[in-house]
Amino acid sequence: MIRKLLVANRGEIAVRVIRAARELGIQTVGVFSEADRDALFVRYADQSVCIGPPPLSDSYLFYQNILAAAQSTGADAIHPGYGFLAENASFAEACRALDLTFIGPAPQAIRKMGDKATAKRLMKEAGVPTVPGSEGVLGSLAEARTLAAEIGYPVVIKATAGGGGRGMRIVGDGGELENAFHAAVNEAQQAFGDSGVYLEKFIQDPKHIEIQVLGDKHGQVVHLFERDCSIQRRYQKLLEEAPSPVLTEATRAAMGEIAVTAARSVRYDSAGTIEFIYDGRSRQFFFIEMNTRIQVEHPVTEMITGVDLLQWQIRVAAGERLPLRQEEIVRRGHAIECRINAEDPQKGFLPQTGTLSQYIVPGGPGVRVDSGVYPGYAIPPFYDSLLAKLVVWGETRKDAVLRLQRALDEFIIEGVATTIPFHQRIVRHPEFHRGAYTTDFIRRITAEEVANAC
Ligand code: ADP
Ligand code: ADP
Ligand code: MG
Repeated sequence: MIRKLLVANRGEIAVRVIRAARELGIQTVGVFSEADRDALFVRYADQSVCIGPPPLSDSYLFYQNILAAAQSTGADAIHPGYGFLAENASFAEACRALDLTFIGPAPQAIRKMGDKATAKRLMKEAGVPTVPGSEGVLGSLAEARTLAAEIGYPVVIKATAGGGGRGMRIVGDGGELENAFHAAVNEAQQAFGDSGVYLEKFIQDPKHIEIQVLGDKHGQVVHLFERDCSIQRRYQKLLEEAPSPVLTEATRAAMGEIAVTAARSVRYDSAGTIEFIYDGRSRQFFFIEMNTRIQVEHPVTEMITGVDLLQWQIRVAAGERLPLRQEEIVRRGHAIECRINAEDPQKGFLPQTGTLSQYIVPGGPGVRVDSGVYPGYAIPPFYDSLLAKLVVWGETRKDAVLRLQRALDEFIIEGVATTIPFHQRIVRHPEFHRGAYTTDFIRRITAEEVANAC
């Protein structure tokens, strides 16, 4: 039984967690930095505690203060949201040591999957198809050279501790390898405090398709189908949909089964996501990483399955059994999510700050908005640019696309540039309508536009 839950995050995901907890009859505690005093989640939480100055290392990542806040408020559980401390095994252990329920998987699973090179090696051993590449972290440039020549260019060098679309370098041919290798090692050290890098084949024109999994502490693991997250800018997702418009039922079933195998192999006991690269030509899919947390785009899965992933993540952490067997999880219709970021697409998606002089959210049938802001809210300059997620549901993909166009047109934000106009272009693009778009889509349509303007 959880009675009081501390939410160790901010923005829309803090609001989402508070909503789930309240609907389960659980009290909530918000923690906020000095820059977030006026945030929506602070108003929604039953009580809130200031945990320090704006920089992440002094507040949302400073876990001694967060644990102290949990103890002083009498919280018995902590939800880390996504980002921040969500995939920090030491934090999960520190919670346990204080008898606080960490809403996430067991620390050993976080540790195994958190190091991306190790995760790939473990998954290969478990029989999960992985992208051809190095077994673990690269030992030297010479090793990278031999391996790249063997698997063929292009290849990608990734930071083993990377995440959030950062710490990747694509290498087109052997001439670029030496510089790319040294730059990747330096960047990894700077950005993640871990210089380990690994190498894999760079798949041309793939889709990013991921499977939602859910496990409990009694050894049950199920999947809740896929999300197609191929609309990305700079390897970061911008729009996600489920089901994927291109998967055959056979591939869908195979991916789901493999994802469950992957999760079981680390005794996974929470909500998590297995990410794959999907090659539409060969219909092959390859594991790239697992995110051991709730994901930004989880509402898309909630809309097609009717399962409240946040509530189930909390309930399984408290020891409850999963309510549904695999065959009882059914999907219906189609859902699409747009990330509404305070970013200027005209300026290379540069994050923007400012005050929301106007903020009118869409509504009506089949429309859900998960948001962390309100009219008059001033966006602090310290954190990520996600303001809201617009999610729509429709009986068919065509219905969902038309509903999304309607809802995007209703969404009015003034005072700061957002990704809304860019999403309006995407949802009207013939290639998006066809559904076979790949991770290169945004780069190509942006280039098209530049070419047309010349
Ligand atoms: P999702 O994987 O849920 O689709 P993102 O990849 O956008 O979401 O990541 C969610 C948030 O977590 C973002 O704010 C991102 O910057 C952050 N994040 C994810 N992994 C890391 C990491 N290893 N280090 C730092 N930030 C990360
Ligand atoms: P992160 O931890 O930052 O989420 P991922 O390993 O999940 O990093 O990769 C982020 C994105 O980069 C993927 O969604 C995909 O678009 C692209 N990507 C990653 N690996 C490959 C690959 N081997 N070939 C082609 N694209 C890739
Ligand atoms: Mg990823």
